[in-house]
Amino acid sequence: MNLPSSLKNTACKNMDKTAYYFMDKPVTYGELDAAVSKFANGLKKLGLEKGDHIALLLGNSPQFIIALYGAMRAGISTIPVNPIYTPNEIQYILENGDVKAVVALDMFVPFVDAVDAHLPKVEHYIICETGPAQTRTEYTHPKLKSFSRILEESFPVAEEVPLDDDDTAVILYTSGTTGKPKGAMLTHKNLYSNASDIGEYLRMSSRDRVITALPMFHVFCLSVAVNAPLISGATLLILPKFSPKEVFRVAKKYEATIFAGVPTMYNYLYQYEAGTPKDFATLRLCISGGASMPVALLKNFEKKFNVLISEGYGLSEASPVTCFNPLDRPRKPGSIGTNIVHVENKVVDELGNEVPVGEVGELVVRGPNVMKGYYKMPEETAATIRNGWLYTGDLARMDEDGYFYIVDRKKDMVIVGGFNVYPREVEEVLYDHPDVVEAAAVGIPDPNQGEVVKVFVVSKNESLTEEELLGYCRERLAKYKVPQEIEFLDELPKNTTGKILRRSLKEQVLKKQSSKS
Ligand code: AMP
Repeated sequence: MNLPSSLKNTACKNMDKTAYYFMDKPVTYGELDAAVSKFANGLKKLGLEKGDHIALLLGNSPQFIIALYGAMRAGISTIPVNPIYTPNEIQYILENGDVKAVVALDMFVPFVDAVDAHLPKVEHYIICETGPAQTRTEYTHPKLKSFSRILEESFPVAEEVPLDDDDTAVILYTSGTTGKPKGAMLTHKNLYSNASDIGEYLRMSSRDRVITALPMFHVFCLSVAVNAPLISGATLLILPKFSPKEVFRVAKKYEATIFAGVPTMYNYLYQYEAGTPKDFATLRLCISGGASMPVALLKNFEKKFNVLISEGYGLSEASPVTCFNPLDRPRKPGSIGTNIVHVENKVVDELGNEVPVGEVGELVVRGPNVMKGYYKMPEETAATIRNGWLYTGDLARMDEDGYFYIVDRKKDMVIVGGFNVYPREVEEVLYDHPDVVEAAAVGIPDPNQGEVVKVFVVSKNESLTEEELLGYCRERLAKYKVPQEIEFLDELPKNTTGKILRRSLKEQVLKKQSSKS
């Protein structure tokens, strides 16, 4: 089984079931499956073959799903790219990924000549027309093709292309634990097994209506809020992008049952005054992942909206999910839960030996979800997958019940005078303060201790002082963990998935320090 054949099965069994709503327009599984086949046929007509690569430079949209599933059905690998990357970042990925066709929004058209001059391997730019009427455009540039025209002119039944479990379905560019972006090759087996295991673990069914507000180019959204619900025959409520207003609106209007988001989204939803528990009355489950969920936020959110948050954990290289808090056993706030079906996690020391229960080490993962390797980077692959285990670069511990806790990223750990400080534990304390909306802790150089902790805080109370907050930390943290500096900001820098960018805050501090000296 793979994702495109699973879609076909659902469409055959349940033609008229709504697969998704986008901009309040419903589309059935039958219509989605036909569009996917048309796109697969269209790619073949353009001369693309099994094993070729296409890139998607798209935000959340039906075209994203149609292009992804269409390419998979044609045996073509897809590289989803964050459309707001800089031209240099995009060029690196398209070149390194040997991309033959790019699917992009029409706002890309004016840049085509400039971009194309640097990308000799790209043969086609398939343009998705935006705007309410989905107007078709006749393009004069020979490499430009219209997405909607491809669909209109293609036959809705795709010729069968045999897909092997180990064929690459998607290549996700990720910085991984170190260095420049690397393309994690996820196979059909990786993607299907992870999405179906997540669906089973979270008991997704055709009765579910899932809010798809995370960016689709990110693996968390792809597996948890697109592939798993489509395997389950559920209905997606696709938002072009996250906004609390829209989340509450669609949750209420379409009686959503599941929401998936990163902690920052939960924070925005919690703080949004117009959002009421009534809007979320039908939600049965909130899924959190991508970054650690502060326990105080989890508890406040659950209390306000009367809905359970289940935190899970994953990374691009594992398609992505490895752990989730179970629904049939107690959930432990602050934990990423236990092994999902078919996947093993363990915590190891520097030599790869499992550490005793409760001790901190690196989290390693094994299972059908673990990537084939990094595209054209055998050395990086060998450094990341050792003896069949994927080294995550995350520090974790496991408790006596088999629940894992992410302590921090290996790279983000701060060493104060020889003592390890995990930014997360400082942030947890800050999030517990009633005035703190967001917090990030980083290590900054210190002539005596090597490093000390600095925190950046967004406060909702303008009169909160550094001294007051420091006093609060001193009561709750060992001396060496107490921040030496607190800076108040209006907001914290985040990536497009909403993860707080600790590293960019640290870089700002280092830049300021070097310009002073
Ligand atoms: P990505 O490959 O972009 O999905 O990023 C994966 C990384 O996100 C992991 O290696 C972790 O550092 C982080 N991450 C994901 N889920 C969690 C979580 N629940 N708690 C803490 N960190 C997480």
